[in-house]
Amino acid sequence: MDHFSYNAEGRYCAEDVPLPRIADAVGTPFYCYSTATLLRHYQVFSASFAHAAPLVCFAVKANGSLAVLATLAQAGAGADVVSQGEILLARRAGVPASRIVFSGVGKTEAEMAFALEEGIFQFNVESEPELRALSAVASAKGATAAVAVRVNPDVASGTHAKIATGAKDTKFGVPMSEAPPLYALAAALPGIRVQGVSMHIGSQLTSLAPFAEAFSRLRMFVGTLRQAGHGIRTVDLGGGLGIPYHDEAPPLPEAYAQLVRREMDGIDAQLIFEPGRVLAGNAGILVTRVIYVKRTAGRKFIVVDAGMNDLIRPSLYEAHHDIVPVRKPEGGAAVEEADVVGPVCETGDIFAQARKLSLPAAGDLLAFRSAGAYGASMASTYNARLLPAEVMVRGSEFAVVKTRQSYEELFSRDRLPPWF
Ligand SMILES: *Cc1c(COP(=O)(O)O)cnc(C)c1O
Repeated sequence: MDHFSYNAEGRYCAEDVPLPRIADAVGTPFYCYSTATLLRHYQVFSASFAHAAPLVCFAVKANGSLAVLATLAQAGAGADVVSQGEILLARRAGVPASRIVFSGVGKTEAEMAFALEEGIFQFNVESEPELRALSAVASAKGATAAVAVRVNPDVASGTHAKIATGAKDTKFGVPMSEAPPLYALAAALPGIRVQGVSMHIGSQLTSLAPFAEAFSRLRMFVGTLRQAGHGIRTVDLGGGLGIPYHDEAPPLPEAYAQLVRREMDGIDAQLIFEPGRVLAGNAGILVTRVIYVKRTAGRKFIVVDAGMNDLIRPSLYEAHHDIVPVRKPEGGAAVEEADVVGPVCETGDIFAQARKLSLPAAGDLLAFRSAGAYGASMASTYNARLLPAEVMVRGSEFAVVKTRQSYEELFSRDRLPPWF
């Protein structure tokens, strides 16, 4: 459930704020987040596990806006981070270091040192060379790194190839069969304390079956590790729960929680989750203005002022985003098929092909729904386009939470070489 809907005047609103009001104040394109939706998603997710009091670490890469992170942090969320920058962001947003887990296949020694100084809760280690590097960095500092090995359960997650991470031929994690010697090594290395086990099998999963298979393998694996004498106090089940973008019917958090209860019953460990999309995805939209309606070669193109640089999911993952006219079309307005495209000079800069909609006019506003995760956080300045503004709504209030980039900011890092 989300808090984006039409008001009585037929204007699309974020909570109680009509979007044309925000567009007039900040221009387009802009991302718009709903506080109530974000909090609701966090509460529904957390409450379904209430019995287990899990550590819910929001995956910062899904949405790194300070206001989004601070909203979740205030509600009690931790953070799943994949870089030093994300640790800084999470800390600035008020996430205690004791609720930060550090994932990723390519942590540098500098990042490890920084994370140790901050005193983060857990490193999810993805390889033997990483484990050895972490040991060296920690012992040099006289520190101890709390470690979980990210194991790869080798399950097919049934999601888009670019976001599937649980099969054994991806770069992520360590195959379960190769993990026991790594745990033995971890137990022997200085500066390392074995704390738990972790996994993450992919993103936008719309069925429980891959989770069920992975969790049951992980459960057995925890038994194996304990038999070998390792103290396993944390079990990190990753993120990946899908959301409805279009006609998918992903499992509800309650069904997911029921599965977790069944598979992890009596495990005697702190459960950790790393949800990103399921918390933020439907809590944000991208609002854009139609620049032209172009008719050529028998086709209709709706050219909007947002591009693939602002929202790359359709180009990168063939993703579907519902497109909603901000001014509700008159009842009985004709529905036509059109392509919705951006201004970027790439054939792939397409948001929707042959989409059925009531044809807008130049100047009209459109909203791309489900853009709160992997939207703004993946934006770039390709084509020398400015990063979009981000706005947060709470009830009848709104605030710019990230200013639109200025040309001065865009060009501020450029220098001419001395021979000019
Ligand atoms: C991306 C990622 C997540 C979040 O995935 P969602 O599908 O957004 O829930 C969690 N953990 C790790 C390690 C990730 O890489």
